[in-house]
Amino acid sequence: PRLANQIAAGEVVERPASVVKEVLENSLDAGATRVEIEIEAGGSKLIRIRDNGDGIEPEDLPLALARHATSKIVSLEDLEAVGSLGFRGEALASIGSVSRLTLTSNHRPDGSEGCAALCEGREMTVQLRPAPHPRGTTVEVRDLFFNTPARRKFLRTEKTEFNHIEEVVKRLALSRFEVDFSLRHNGKVIHQLRGATSTAERQRRVAAVCGPAFMEQAVQLETDRGELRLWGWTGLPTFSRSQTDLQYFFVNGRVIRDKLVAHAVKQAYRDVLYHGRHPAFVLYLELDPAQVDVNVHPGKHEVRFRDSRAVHQCVFGALHRALADVRP
Ligand code: ADP
Ligand code: MG
Repeated sequence: PRLANQIAAGEVVERPASVVKEVLENSLDAGATRVEIEIEAGGSKLIRIRDNGDGIEPEDLPLALARHATSKIVSLEDLEAVGSLGFRGEALASIGSVSRLTLTSNHRPDGSEGCAALCEGREMTVQLRPAPHPRGTTVEVRDLFFNTPARRKFLRTEKTEFNHIEEVVKRLALSRFEVDFSLRHNGKVIHQLRGATSTAERQRRVAAVCGPAFMEQAVQLETDRGELRLWGWTGLPTFSRSQTDLQYFFVNGRVIRDKLVAHAVKQAYRDVLYHGRHPAFVLYLELDPAQVDVNVHPGKHEVRFRDSRAVHQCVFGALHRALADVRP
């Protein structure tokens, strides 16, 4: 099992940011309304994520750390209907196989004691012990890749690894406005984002995540075509090199990079602004989950639309109209 886990870890756990992504997605799947992320040394020393979600029952802690024990996929039809972010039941097992992982949780709201499970690379033996913890879960990942030196060697500088982590947090913060996010690196607060419900609060969050310069010139858009709803903000292309990737497209709450969508966006920018370089946008497409295939690839960044023409037209049309307003 150890080898299988470490092979799987290669797919799921590429770098500290992949750990943060998987663990945060679990918190969101557990209905957390607040997540606190603490990072040390770009995540290679410590990644600690605490949430106030449903928590895990003590007897389920070892299961949560076992590969595939929790897979929510039983059939292909299931795969199409997956609403939650995690569905392969292998992330924690994979992370545990290449780090020193502690999973501490309490599923009871009454302030009773929680339970911690320790899992250290190697044989994946899990030890349980009582531990104080409010309702929710804390995942602590220390010394990532301590037992896979080849992987550890591939880590970039602390700053680069942290930037990747920050990007993951930004994407999730933009996909779950209602959730509080805080992010610290080496004890310093990097982001403190309060849950946002009103449009003004959402705009404030987008400004905090994407920079005030984006929000100042961005136009808000919203189209509803029955089957397809597209909303968000789009702005002038960014020319500062540091902002070249201010491009967020969410499909039913998942960030994606999709050729078809990229093409529709680029074409709209070209049509209205005469060039399509580095468009800046934060856009949300909502549609019937049965109309979109989530790729089974661990990256989960790709999707396939049943009616790709309709999606293309919707994105292109909405951006075209919105951009006419910001044309300089
Ligand atoms: P998956 O998310 O694909 O099911 P994971 O390995 O990421 O697989 O997580 C295994 C299981 O552990 C989850 O299905 C969930 O039941 C439980 N779990 C993990 N993290 C949390 C959390 N923060 N809160 C509650 N349950 C959790
Ligand atoms: Mg998961």
